[in-house]
Amino acid sequence: MADPVRVAFLGGLGEIGRNCAVIEQSGRLVVLDCGVFFPNVEMPGVDLVLPDFSMLRERAGDVDGIVLSHGHEDHVGAVAYLLREVRAPVYGSAFTLGIARNRLEEANLAAEAKLVVVADGERRRIGPFDVEFIPVTHSVPHGFATAFHTAQGVILHSGDFKLDLTPVDGRRTDLARIGELASTSGIRLLLSDSTNAEEPGFTGSESLVGESLRRIIDTRQGRRIIVACFASHVHRIQQLADAAVASGRRIALLGRSMLKNVALAREQGLLSIPDQAMVDIESVDRLDPGEVCILSTGSQGEPMSALSLMAGGESRWLTVGDGDVVVLSSHAIPGNEWAVAQVMDGLARRGAEVIHAAIAHVHESGHARQGELETLLSIAKPTSFVPVHGEYRHLLAHSRIAIAMGVPADSVLLCEDGDVVELGDEGIDFGPEVPSSYVFVDGISGDVGLGVLRDRRVLAEEGVVVAVVTVDRRSGELLGRPEVVSRGFLDEAGHEDLAAEARSVIEKALEVAAAEGRHDPDGLRRVIRRAIGRLVNEKTRRRPMIVPVVVEA
Ligand SMILES: [Zn+2]
Ligand SMILES: [Zn+2]
Repeated sequence: MADPVRVAFLGGLGEIGRNCAVIEQSGRLVVLDCGVFFPNVEMPGVDLVLPDFSMLRERAGDVDGIVLSHGHEDHVGAVAYLLREVRAPVYGSAFTLGIARNRLEEANLAAEAKLVVVADGERRRIGPFDVEFIPVTHSVPHGFATAFHTAQGVILHSGDFKLDLTPVDGRRTDLARIGELASTSGIRLLLSDSTNAEEPGFTGSESLVGESLRRIIDTRQGRRIIVACFASHVHRIQQLADAAVASGRRIALLGRSMLKNVALAREQGLLSIPDQAMVDIESVDRLDPGEVCILSTGSQGEPMSALSLMAGGESRWLTVGDGDVVVLSSHAIPGNEWAVAQVMDGLARRGAEVIHAAIAHVHESGHARQGELETLLSIAKPTSFVPVHGEYRHLLAHSRIAIAMGVPADSVLLCEDGDVVELGDEGIDFGPEVPSSYVFVDGISGDVGLGVLRDRRVLAEEGVVVAVVTVDRRSGELLGRPEVVSRGFLDEAGHEDLAAEARSVIEKALEVAAAEGRHDPDGLRRVIRRAIGRLVNEKTRRRPMIVPVVVEA
């Protein structure tokens, strides 16, 4: 009888973001990835969403390590928050840890954090596990799949991956090693990236994007070129830089994360741009348009990003106009489509030629499509399978692929955030769930609850009415006239009419309350809220937030 091994999913199953899993054996825990989720329109004012760390907080002493598969924010963005609760070494490739270190520095935690760099193919003892780091291709350099050698056999986590046979850095997904694991010890459980599980075929090679970008740059001699892409996409940046330099241009960087990541990648030898090919953004105006290529952040339409400012004519550094070429070498993450379209429209209106993924091959996904997922399944031959990294329908599509590829249906577990799977001598099954609610981070005030978000949505969609009344402390009788203020759903004239009616409604309601001998402030607030609510709903069919203020005199 070997000890059972549990995998708890704290995030990433049911959304793209806040990836975080905990692998447990004999009471010891290893965390795999710790990412953030970027808030959507349902979460106004929220900066970030974190995984729920309740389980880890309670068992902080049991955590032996944190393993990071790659440097994307949905995998490393919450590490600083976790390290406030749990002290454990963090493992990852040099580039991944470089990105994590930037986050830790911002949180003043870099000095005390223990970061352990691991190399391709390396094996490390972390707590009860022998953890093996297997190279995979993805849209950020040096991503890993991780094989956990456990008491219950090998658990292989694919990480975010694609099967790019001609990657820019020549570092391919190590299918041979995965095949070797399958044919020697066997793979007991495969956890695999589901992002593109609904899409048939194979994801194109990143090298093809490079060819297309080169053609675009070559055929636009004499014109200024501005390209927006993810700052972590070092291979994309390398190909852009090569094409720009070959056409006699110098490269300027725009946006904080672009500057930071390019510096990190050059320092680590992952990005090769000759010093003399770089130019400071401040000097760009002094060069001919045909002599520059600007690499910018803001490909997701983020409101304060470099590209958005250009589109709005508010950039400190350049004014986009006729003859400029702007390439969005990216694709809009679901939820960002509208913002990206606005940015593209703004640029087009200023006279720029806007090139994006719908009209030219300027982007490829970093995630495997169905053909690649099938390939991995056929090589790994896992006895059981859990699809990870996806919205529900991606996970569902991936579980069907696994069954079609021969994994027994009762060993394919469709999990969501908070689910736990347990591998025992008998097989795989669900274990007791763990907390997995969304944890909202809002500026410096920290965690805001669901109640606060509900209030913000009501304020945004319905507006607010504030009623201030002064009552006699002993009798509860109204002193003077109530004051009524509204915001967000009526114009001035509409407000005057409503306020007049609201004042009489409040006066009547308080008279009735006084006659019944009720004058506690809580009770009076309820009476006022009900009276105004009924009136406003009748007159406007709206349900604004109603804030009664009772002053005792
Ligand atoms: Zn990724
Ligand atoms: Zn990811």
